[in-house]
Amino acid sequence: MTLRVLNPATEQPVAELEQAGVAETDRAVAAAKAAFPAWRAVAPSDRARLLRRLAGLVEDHREELALLETRNVGKPIADSRGEVGMVAEVFHYYAGAVDKHFGQTIPVAGGVDMTFREPLGVVGLIVPWNFPLNIASWKVGPALACGNTVVLKPAELTPMTAIRLAELALEAGIPEGVLNVVVGPGRIVGERLIHHPDVAKIGFTGSTEVGIGVMRGAAESIKRVTLELGGKSANIVFADADVERAAAAAPYAVFGNAGQDCCARSRILVQREAYDRFVSLLIAATGAMRVGDPEDDATEMGPLVSASHRSTVASFIESEPLFTGATPDGPGFWFPCTLVEATNDDRIARDEVFGPVAAIIPFTDEADAVRIANDTPYGLSGSIWTTNGARALRVARALETGVISINTNSSVRVSTPFGGFKQSGFGRELGMNALDGYSEVKNVFMTTEG
Ligand code: NAD
Repeated sequence: MTLRVLNPATEQPVAELEQAGVAETDRAVAAAKAAFPAWRAVAPSDRARLLRRLAGLVEDHREELALLETRNVGKPIADSRGEVGMVAEVFHYYAGAVDKHFGQTIPVAGGVDMTFREPLGVVGLIVPWNFPLNIASWKVGPALACGNTVVLKPAELTPMTAIRLAELALEAGIPEGVLNVVVGPGRIVGERLIHHPDVAKIGFTGSTEVGIGVMRGAAESIKRVTLELGGKSANIVFADADVERAAAAAPYAVFGNAGQDCCARSRILVQREAYDRFVSLLIAATGAMRVGDPEDDATEMGPLVSASHRSTVASFIESEPLFTGATPDGPGFWFPCTLVEATNDDRIARDEVFGPVAAIIPFTDEADAVRIANDTPYGLSGSIWTTNGARALRVARALETGVISINTNSSVRVSTPFGGFKQSGFGRELGMNALDGYSEVKNVFMTTEG
Protein backbone atom coordinates (compact mmCIF):
# COMPACT_ATOMS: atom_id res chain seq x y z
CA MET A 1 0.00 0.00 0.00
CA THR A 2 1.19 3.50 -0.79
CA LEU A 3 1.63 6.05 2.01
CA ARG A 4 1.04 9.68 1.04
CA VAL A 5 2.99 11.98 3.35
CA LEU A 6 1.50 15.49 3.57
CA ASN A 7 2.78 18.94 4.48
CA PRO A 8 0.31 20.03 7.22
CA ALA A 9 0.75 23.71 6.34
CA THR A 10 -0.18 23.31 2.67
CA GLU A 11 -2.00 19.95 2.62
CA GLN A 12 0.21 19.10 -0.39
CA PRO A 13 2.11 15.79 -0.64
CA VAL A 14 5.73 15.74 0.48
CA ALA A 15 6.39 12.15 -0.59
CA GLU A 16 4.77 8.87 -1.53
CA LEU A 17 6.24 5.79 0.07
CA GLU A 18 5.62 2.08 -0.15
CA GLN A 19 4.39 0.98 3.29
CA ALA A 20 6.03 -1.94 5.00
CA GLY A 21 4.08 -4.85 6.43
CA VAL A 22 4.93 -7.92 8.47
CA ALA A 23 7.30 -9.40 5.86
CA GLU A 24 9.40 -6.21 5.65
CA THR A 25 9.46 -5.91 9.44
CA ASP A 26 10.70 -9.49 9.70
CA ARG A 27 13.43 -8.71 7.14
CA ALA A 28 14.53 -5.69 9.16
CA VAL A 29 14.64 -7.73 12.37
CA ALA A 30 16.62 -10.46 10.60
CA ALA A 31 19.09 -7.85 9.31
CA ALA A 32 19.46 -6.39 12.80
CA LYS A 33 19.93 -9.85 14.28
CA ALA A 34 22.60 -10.73 11.72
CA ALA A 35 24.44 -7.45 12.35
CA PHE A 36 24.39 -7.77 16.15
CA PRO A 37 27.40 -10.06 16.84
CA ALA A 38 29.78 -7.90 14.80
CA TRP A 39 28.38 -4.60 16.15
CA ARG A 40 28.67 -5.62 19.79
CA ALA A 41 32.25 -6.72 19.10
CA VAL A 42 33.31 -3.35 17.63
CA ALA A 43 35.96 -1.84 19.91
CA PRO A 44 34.40 0.83 22.15
CA SER A 45 36.63 3.58 20.77
CA ASP A 46 35.62 2.64 17.20
CA ARG A 47 31.92 2.54 18.07
CA ALA A 48 32.32 5.97 19.65
CA ARG A 49 34.08 7.26 16.52
CA LEU A 50 31.22 6.04 14.30
CA LEU A 51 28.60 7.73 16.49
CA ARG A 52 30.67 10.92 16.51
CA ARG A 53 30.81 10.80 12.73
CA LEU A 54 27.04 10.43 12.60
CA ALA A 55 26.72 13.46 14.90
CA GLY A 56 28.95 15.41 12.52
CA LEU A 57 26.88 14.42 9.49
CA VAL A 58 23.67 15.49 11.27
CA GLU A 59 25.33 18.87 11.91
CA ASP A 60 26.45 19.13 8.27
CA HIS A 61 22.89 18.36 7.13
CA ARG A 62 21.18 20.48 9.76
CA GLU A 63 19.38 22.79 7.34
CA GLU A 64 18.23 19.95 5.09
CA LEU A 65 16.95 17.86 8.03
CA ALA A 66 15.25 20.87 9.61
CA LEU A 67 13.40 21.71 6.41
CA LEU A 68 12.38 18.07 5.94
CA GLU A 69 11.00 18.00 9.50
CA THR A 70 9.20 21.33 9.11
CA ARG A 71 7.56 20.27 5.84
CA ASN A 72 6.50 16.95 7.33
CA VAL A 73 5.30 18.02 10.80
CA GLY A 74 4.36 21.68 10.17
CA LYS A 75 6.59 22.88 13.01
CA PRO A 76 8.34 26.28 12.79
CA ILE A 77 11.71 26.10 11.07
CA ALA A 78 13.45 27.76 14.04
CA ASP A 79 12.18 24.89 16.25
CA SER A 80 13.27 22.26 13.74
CA ARG A 81 16.77 23.76 13.60
CA GLY A 82 16.94 23.59 17.40
CA GLU A 83 15.73 19.99 17.41
CA VAL A 84 18.23 18.85 14.77
CA GLY A 85 20.95 20.61 16.78
CA MET A 86 19.89 18.53 19.76
CA VAL A 87 20.00 15.33 17.69
CA ALA A 88 23.66 16.00 16.84
CA GLU A 89 24.35 16.73 20.51
CA VAL A 90 22.65 13.45 21.51
CA PHE A 91 24.93 11.42 19.22
CA HIS A 92 27.99 13.31 20.47
CA TYR A 93 26.93 12.64 24.06
CA TYR A 94 26.40 8.90 23.57
CA ALA A 95 29.61 8.65 21.53
CA GLY A 96 31.32 9.98 24.65
CA ALA A 97 29.37 7.56 26.86
CA VAL A 98 30.41 4.35 25.05
CA ASP A 99 33.54 3.82 27.18
CA LYS A 100 32.21 5.48 30.33
CA HIS A 101 29.34 3.10 31.01
CA PHE A 102 31.06 0.40 32.98
CA GLY A 103 30.50 -2.21 35.62
CA GLN A 104 31.81 -2.53 39.16
CA THR A 105 33.99 -4.77 41.23
CA ILE A 106 32.21 -5.75 44.42
CA PRO A 107 33.95 -6.90 47.61
CA VAL A 108 32.89 -10.48 48.36
CA ALA A 109 34.45 -13.41 50.16
CA GLY A 110 36.50 -16.02 48.34
CA GLY A 111 37.12 -14.33 45.03
CA VAL A 112 36.51 -11.44 42.70
CA ASP A 113 33.05 -10.29 41.74
CA MET A 114 32.53 -8.00 38.79
CA THR A 115 29.63 -6.66 36.76
CA PHE A 116 29.45 -6.07 33.00
CA ARG A 117 26.99 -4.01 30.97
CA GLU A 118 25.83 -6.26 28.15
CA PRO A 119 23.77 -5.17 25.14
CA LEU A 120 20.27 -6.63 24.80
CA GLY A 121 20.40 -7.57 21.11
CA VAL A 122 17.84 -6.27 18.62
CA VAL A 123 15.77 -3.40 19.99
CA GLY A 124 12.51 -2.15 18.44
CA LEU A 125 12.06 1.61 18.72
CA ILE A 126 8.58 3.02 18.11
CA VAL A 127 8.30 6.81 17.98
CA PRO A 128 5.54 9.41 17.54
CA TRP A 129 5.03 12.26 15.07
CA ASN A 130 5.47 15.31 17.27
CA PHE A 131 9.29 15.35 17.55
CA PRO A 132 10.13 12.63 15.02
CA LEU A 133 13.91 12.86 14.66
CA ASN A 134 14.57 14.20 18.12
CA ILE A 135 12.78 11.40 19.98
CA ALA A 136 14.25 8.80 17.61
CA SER A 137 17.76 10.01 18.50
CA TRP A 138 17.05 9.76 22.24
CA LYS A 139 16.60 6.01 21.72
CA VAL A 140 18.94 5.27 18.82
CA GLY A 141 21.88 7.04 20.53
CA PRO A 142 22.01 4.99 23.75
CA ALA A 143 20.87 1.80 21.98
CA LEU A 144 23.80 1.89 19.54
CA ALA A 145 26.24 3.11 22.18
CA CYS A 146 25.49 0.00 24.26
CA GLY A 147 26.10 -2.28 21.28
CA ASN A 148 22.51 -3.12 20.33
CA THR A 149 21.18 -3.13 16.79
CA VAL A 150 17.99 -1.25 16.00
CA VAL A 151 14.73 -1.47 14.09
CA LEU A 152 13.21 2.01 14.20
CA LYS A 153 9.55 2.56 13.38
CA PRO A 154 8.65 6.20 12.83
CA ALA A 155 5.02 7.37 12.93
CA GLU A 156 3.22 6.92 9.60
CA LEU A 157 2.58 10.66 9.36
CA THR A 158 6.23 11.65 9.77
CA PRO A 159 8.73 9.11 8.45
CA MET A 160 10.97 11.43 6.42
CA THR A 161 13.78 12.34 8.82
CA ALA A 162 14.12 8.80 10.20
CA ILE A 163 14.79 7.53 6.68
CA ARG A 164 17.39 10.26 6.15
CA LEU A 165 19.02 9.41 9.50
CA ALA A 166 19.49 5.79 8.42
CA GLU A 167 21.15 6.99 5.19
CA LEU A 168 23.47 9.26 7.17
CA ALA A 169 24.33 6.37 9.51
CA LEU A 170 25.51 4.33 6.52
CA GLU A 171 27.47 7.31 5.26
CA ALA A 172 29.09 7.60 8.70
CA GLY A 173 30.33 4.00 8.32
CA ILE A 174 27.89 2.34 10.71
CA PRO A 175 27.57 -1.15 9.17
CA GLU A 176 24.48 -2.23 7.25
CA GLY A 177 21.85 -3.86 9.43
CA VAL A 178 22.79 -1.92 12.58
CA LEU A 179 20.15 0.81 12.12
CA ASN A 180 17.06 -0.24 10.16
CA VAL A 181 13.98 1.90 9.52
CA VAL A 182 10.58 0.38 8.75
CA VAL A 183 7.79 2.71 7.65
CA GLY A 184 4.32 1.34 8.16
CA PRO A 185 1.23 1.33 10.36
CA GLY A 186 1.54 0.92 14.11
CA ARG A 187 -1.08 -1.81 14.11
CA ILE A 188 1.02 -3.90 11.71
CA VAL A 189 4.71 -2.96 11.95
CA GLY A 190 4.56 -1.84 15.59
CA GLU A 191 2.59 -4.91 16.66
CA ARG A 192 4.99 -7.20 14.82
CA LEU A 193 7.96 -5.68 16.63
CA ILE A 194 6.20 -6.11 19.97
CA HIS A 195 5.48 -9.80 19.29
CA HIS A 196 8.63 -10.68 17.35
CA PRO A 197 10.63 -13.37 19.20
CA ASP A 198 13.98 -11.89 18.10
CA VAL A 199 13.28 -8.40 19.48
CA ALA A 200 14.64 -8.06 23.00
CA LYS A 201 13.19 -4.69 23.93
CA ILE A 202 10.65 -2.09 22.85
CA GLY A 203 11.52 1.55 23.41
CA PHE A 204 8.19 3.30 22.95
CA THR A 205 7.13 6.93 22.92
CA GLY A 206 3.49 7.68 22.21
CA SER A 207 0.06 7.73 23.78
CA THR A 208 -0.77 6.05 27.07
CA GLU A 209 -3.47 4.04 25.28
CA VAL A 210 -1.02 2.44 22.82
CA GLY A 211 1.56 2.16 25.62
CA ILE A 212 -0.81 -0.13 27.54
CA GLY A 213 -0.90 -2.43 24.49
CA VAL A 214 2.90 -2.35 24.22
CA MET A 215 3.25 -3.43 27.83
CA ARG A 216 0.64 -6.15 27.48
CA GLY A 217 2.25 -7.54 24.31
CA ALA A 218 5.76 -7.36 25.75
CA ALA A 219 4.61 -9.37 28.76
CA GLU A 220 4.20 -12.49 26.60
CA SER A 221 7.96 -12.93 26.29
CA ILE A 222 9.12 -10.67 29.15
CA LYS A 223 10.48 -8.18 26.63
CA ARG A 224 12.05 -5.14 28.18
CA VAL A 225 10.05 -1.94 27.72
CA THR A 226 10.61 1.74 28.19
CA LEU A 227 7.41 3.77 27.96
CA GLU A 228 7.36 7.53 27.41
CA LEU A 229 3.66 8.34 27.33
CA GLY A 230 1.22 11.21 27.61
CA GLY A 231 1.17 14.14 29.99
CA LYS A 232 -1.10 16.77 31.49
CA SER A 233 1.46 18.90 33.23
CA ALA A 234 0.89 21.85 35.53
CA ASN A 235 2.40 25.29 35.23
CA ILE A 236 2.07 26.60 38.80
CA VAL A 237 2.21 30.37 39.25
CA PHE A 238 2.38 31.58 42.86
CA ALA A 239 1.38 35.14 43.74
CA ASP A 240 4.97 35.79 44.89
CA ALA A 241 6.34 34.98 41.41
CA ASP A 242 7.68 37.42 38.86
CA VAL A 243 4.22 37.39 37.29
CA GLU A 244 5.29 39.29 34.14
CA ARG A 245 7.97 36.71 33.36
CA ALA A 246 5.68 33.80 34.13
CA ALA A 247 2.93 35.18 31.87
CA ALA A 248 5.37 35.93 29.05
CA ALA A 249 6.72 32.37 29.18
CA ALA A 250 3.44 30.47 29.69
CA PRO A 251 2.26 30.55 26.03
CA TYR A 252 5.48 28.85 24.88
CA ALA A 253 5.02 26.15 27.51
CA VAL A 254 1.69 25.08 26.05
CA PHE A 255 1.50 26.39 22.47
CA GLY A 256 5.04 25.36 21.47
CA ASN A 257 4.84 22.74 18.72
CA ALA A 258 1.16 23.76 18.50
CA GLY A 259 0.60 22.06 21.85
CA GLN A 260 1.60 18.68 20.41
CA ASP A 261 4.12 18.20 23.16
CA CYS A 262 4.01 15.54 25.86
CA CYS A 263 5.59 18.13 28.20
CA ALA A 264 3.01 20.82 27.41
CA ARG A 265 2.06 22.68 30.59
CA SER A 266 -1.58 22.54 29.56
CA ARG A 267 -2.96 23.20 33.05
CA ILE A 268 -2.03 26.69 34.18
CA LEU A 269 -2.57 26.89 37.95
CA VAL A 270 -2.64 30.46 39.24
CA GLN A 271 -2.86 31.63 42.88
CA ARG A 272 -6.02 33.69 43.41
CA GLU A 273 -4.26 36.90 44.54
CA ALA A 274 -2.41 37.09 41.20
CA TYR A 275 -5.14 35.55 39.02
CA ASP A 276 -6.64 38.63 37.30
CA ARG A 277 -3.29 40.26 36.64
CA PHE A 278 -1.73 37.04 35.35
CA VAL A 279 -4.67 36.21 33.10
CA SER A 280 -4.70 39.62 31.42
CA LEU A 281 -0.93 39.40 30.83
CA LEU A 282 -1.34 35.82 29.54
CA ILE A 283 -4.03 36.89 27.06
CA ALA A 284 -1.78 39.66 25.73
CA ALA A 285 1.21 37.29 25.40
CA THR A 286 -0.90 34.61 23.72
CA GLY A 287 -2.33 37.15 21.26
CA ALA A 288 1.23 38.15 20.34
CA MET A 289 2.26 34.57 19.35
CA ARG A 290 3.33 34.56 15.71
CA VAL A 291 1.20 31.88 14.07
CA GLY A 292 1.74 31.17 10.38
CA ASP A 293 4.03 29.80 7.68
CA PRO A 294 6.33 27.26 9.38
CA GLU A 295 9.09 28.04 6.89
CA ASP A 296 9.24 31.69 8.01
CA ASP A 297 12.11 32.21 10.48
CA ALA A 298 9.92 34.37 12.74
CA THR A 299 7.02 31.91 13.09
CA GLU A 300 6.39 30.57 16.59
CA MET A 301 3.46 28.23 15.93
CA GLY A 302 2.45 26.24 12.86
CA PRO A 303 -0.57 24.05 12.09
CA LEU A 304 -1.55 20.77 13.71
CA VAL A 305 -0.20 17.60 12.14
CA SER A 306 -3.36 16.38 10.37
CA ALA A 307 -7.02 17.09 9.67
CA SER A 308 -8.17 14.23 11.88
CA HIS A 309 -6.02 15.43 14.77
CA ARG A 310 -7.52 18.91 14.36
CA SER A 311 -11.02 17.41 14.76
CA THR A 312 -9.92 15.65 17.94
CA VAL A 313 -8.49 18.88 19.38
CA ALA A 314 -11.63 20.83 18.43
CA SER A 315 -13.81 18.31 20.28
CA PHE A 316 -12.30 19.52 23.58
CA ILE A 317 -13.73 23.04 23.26
CA GLU A 318 -17.05 22.54 25.05
CA SER A 319 -17.48 26.01 26.58
CA GLU A 320 -16.88 29.60 25.46
CA PRO A 321 -13.10 30.19 25.59
CA LEU A 322 -11.61 33.10 27.47
CA PHE A 323 -9.44 33.83 24.45
CA THR A 324 -9.13 32.47 20.91
CA GLY A 325 -6.16 33.51 18.76
CA ALA A 326 -5.98 34.11 15.02
CA THR A 327 -5.03 31.57 12.33
CA PRO A 328 -4.00 32.06 8.70
CA ASP A 329 -6.58 31.75 5.91
CA GLY A 330 -6.22 29.13 3.22
CA PRO A 331 -5.05 25.52 3.38
CA GLY A 332 -3.38 23.94 6.39
CA PHE A 333 -4.56 22.17 9.54
CA TRP A 334 -4.66 25.35 11.65
CA PHE A 335 -6.03 25.59 15.14
CA PRO A 336 -5.96 28.81 17.19
CA CYS A 337 -4.25 29.30 20.54
CA THR A 338 -7.12 28.86 22.98
CA LEU A 339 -7.38 29.75 26.68
CA VAL A 340 -10.19 28.22 28.71
CA GLU A 341 -11.09 28.81 32.37
CA ALA A 342 -11.66 25.44 34.00
CA THR A 343 -11.78 23.38 37.15
CA ASN A 344 -9.48 20.40 37.49
CA ASP A 345 -12.50 18.09 37.06
CA ASP A 346 -13.31 19.33 33.57
CA ARG A 347 -12.44 17.08 30.63
CA ILE A 348 -10.14 19.79 29.27
CA ALA A 349 -8.10 19.61 32.48
CA ARG A 350 -8.07 15.82 32.74
CA ASP A 351 -7.37 14.53 29.22
CA GLU A 352 -4.36 15.23 27.09
CA VAL A 353 -5.62 17.57 24.33
CA PHE A 354 -2.31 17.58 22.42
CA GLY A 355 -3.20 20.88 20.78
CA PRO A 356 -2.86 24.62 21.53
CA VAL A 357 -5.42 24.64 24.32
CA ALA A 358 -4.69 25.68 27.91
CA ALA A 359 -6.94 25.19 30.94
CA ILE A 360 -6.52 27.97 33.52
CA ILE A 361 -7.31 26.91 37.07
CA PRO A 362 -7.19 29.09 40.22
CA PHE A 363 -5.79 27.83 43.55
CA THR A 364 -5.75 29.17 47.08
CA ASP A 365 -2.47 28.17 48.73
CA GLU A 366 0.59 25.92 48.36
CA ALA A 367 -1.19 22.78 49.58
CA ASP A 368 -4.08 23.42 47.18
CA ALA A 369 -1.62 23.88 44.27
CA VAL A 370 0.12 20.58 45.03
CA ARG A 371 -3.19 18.77 45.45
CA ILE A 372 -4.54 20.00 42.09
CA ALA A 373 -1.24 19.44 40.26
CA ASN A 374 -1.08 15.83 41.49
CA ASP A 375 -4.77 15.14 40.82
CA THR A 376 -4.12 13.56 37.41
CA PRO A 377 -3.21 10.08 36.17
CA TYR A 378 -0.19 11.59 34.41
CA GLY A 379 3.17 12.74 35.80
CA LEU A 380 5.58 13.85 33.14
CA SER A 381 6.62 17.47 33.46
CA GLY A 382 5.70 20.84 34.94
CA SER A 383 6.90 24.25 36.11
CA ILE A 384 6.84 26.23 39.34
CA TRP A 385 7.00 30.03 39.34
CA THR A 386 7.90 31.63 42.69
CA THR A 387 10.59 33.90 44.14
CA ASN A 388 10.61 31.85 47.35
CA GLY A 389 13.45 29.33 46.98
CA ALA A 390 12.37 27.11 49.84
CA ARG A 391 8.83 26.90 48.45
CA ALA A 392 10.18 26.11 44.98
CA LEU A 393 12.10 23.09 46.24
CA ARG A 394 9.35 22.00 48.65
CA VAL A 395 6.77 21.98 45.85
CA ALA A 396 9.19 20.38 43.38
CA ARG A 397 9.67 17.48 45.84
CA ALA A 398 5.92 17.16 46.46
CA LEU A 399 4.91 16.92 42.80
CA GLU A 400 4.38 13.43 41.35
CA THR A 401 6.18 14.11 38.11
CA GLY A 402 9.41 12.99 36.45
CA VAL A 403 10.68 16.36 35.29
CA ILE A 404 10.12 19.76 36.86
CA SER A 405 11.53 23.21 36.18
CA ILE A 406 11.60 26.26 38.41
CA ASN A 407 11.01 29.73 36.94
CA THR A 408 11.42 28.41 33.40
CA ASN A 409 9.70 26.15 30.87
CA SER A 410 12.67 23.96 30.05
CA SER A 411 12.10 20.17 30.29
CA VAL A 412 14.75 18.50 28.26
CA ARG A 413 18.55 18.51 28.25
CA VAL A 414 20.84 15.96 26.61
CA SER A 415 22.70 15.09 29.80
CA THR A 416 19.79 14.92 32.28
CA PRO A 417 17.22 12.14 32.76
CA PHE A 418 13.79 12.52 31.19
CA GLY A 419 10.70 10.40 31.80
CA GLY A 420 7.44 10.02 33.63
CA PHE A 421 5.80 9.06 36.90
CA LYS A 422 2.41 7.30 37.03
CA GLN A 423 0.68 6.79 33.65
CA SER A 424 3.25 8.95 31.86
CA GLY A 425 5.38 5.81 31.71
CA PHE A 426 8.60 4.44 33.15
CA GLY A 427 12.25 4.17 32.30
CA ARG A 428 14.39 7.20 31.59
CA GLU A 429 15.72 8.70 28.40
CA LEU A 430 18.70 11.02 27.95
CA GLY A 431 21.65 11.38 30.30
CA MET A 432 23.57 8.34 31.48
CA ASN A 433 20.27 6.90 32.82
CA ALA A 434 19.15 6.00 29.29
CA LEU A 435 22.03 3.50 29.01
CA ASP A 436 20.43 1.42 31.78
CA GLY A 437 17.44 0.86 29.49
CA TYR A 438 19.59 -0.53 26.68
CA SER A 439 21.83 -2.88 28.64
CA GLU A 440 21.64 -5.75 31.10
CA VAL A 441 23.83 -6.04 34.18
CA LYS A 442 25.77 -9.30 34.20
CA ASN A 443 27.44 -10.45 37.38
CA VAL A 444 30.57 -12.62 37.15
CA PHE A 445 32.26 -14.23 40.14
CA MET A 446 35.69 -15.85 39.96
CA THR A 447 37.06 -17.74 42.88
CA THR A 448 40.58 -17.02 44.03
CA GLU A 449 40.70 -20.23 46.02
CA GLY A 450 42.45 -23.38 44.90
P1 NAD B 1 0.51 6.96 19.20
O1 NAD B 1 0.56 6.21 20.47
O2 NAD B 1 -0.73 6.95 18.40
O3 NAD B 1 1.66 6.44 18.21
C1 NAD B 1 3.01 6.37 18.60
C2 NAD B 1 3.70 5.34 17.75
O4 NAD B 1 3.13 4.07 18.02
C3 NAD B 1 3.56 5.55 16.25
O5 NAD B 1 4.75 5.19 15.60
C4 NAD B 1 2.44 4.59 15.90
O6 NAD B 1 2.49 4.17 14.55
C5 NAD B 1 2.73 3.45 16.83
N1 NAD B 1 1.55 2.63 17.10
C6 NAD B 1 0.24 2.94 17.02
N2 NAD B 1 -0.53 1.88 17.33
C7 NAD B 1 0.31 0.87 17.63
C8 NAD B 1 0.12 -0.46 18.05
N3 NAD B 1 -1.10 -0.99 18.21
N4 NAD B 1 1.19 -1.22 18.28
C9 NAD B 1 2.43 -0.70 18.14
N5 NAD B 1 2.69 0.55 17.74
C10 NAD B 1 1.64 1.34 17.49
O7 NAD B 1 0.98 8.42 19.57
P2 NAD B 1 1.09 9.68 18.61
O8 NAD B 1 -0.29 10.15 18.32
O9 NAD B 1 2.02 9.40 17.48
O10 NAD B 1 1.86 10.69 19.57
C11 NAD B 1 1.21 11.44 20.50
C12 NAD B 1 1.34 10.83 21.88
O11 NAD B 1 2.71 10.60 22.19
C13 NAD B 1 0.84 11.74 22.96
O12 NAD B 1 0.08 11.01 23.90
C14 NAD B 1 2.10 12.27 23.61
O13 NAD B 1 1.96 12.72 24.92
C15 NAD B 1 2.99 11.11 23.49
N6 NAD B 1 4.40 11.55 23.58
C16 NAD B 1 5.10 11.26 24.72
C17 NAD B 1 6.40 11.69 24.85
C18 NAD B 1 7.20 11.38 26.08
O14 NAD B 1 8.43 11.44 26.01
N7 NAD B 1 6.60 11.05 27.20
C19 NAD B 1 7.00 12.41 23.83
C20 NAD B 1 6.26 12.68 22.69
C21 NAD B 1 4.96 12.23 22.58
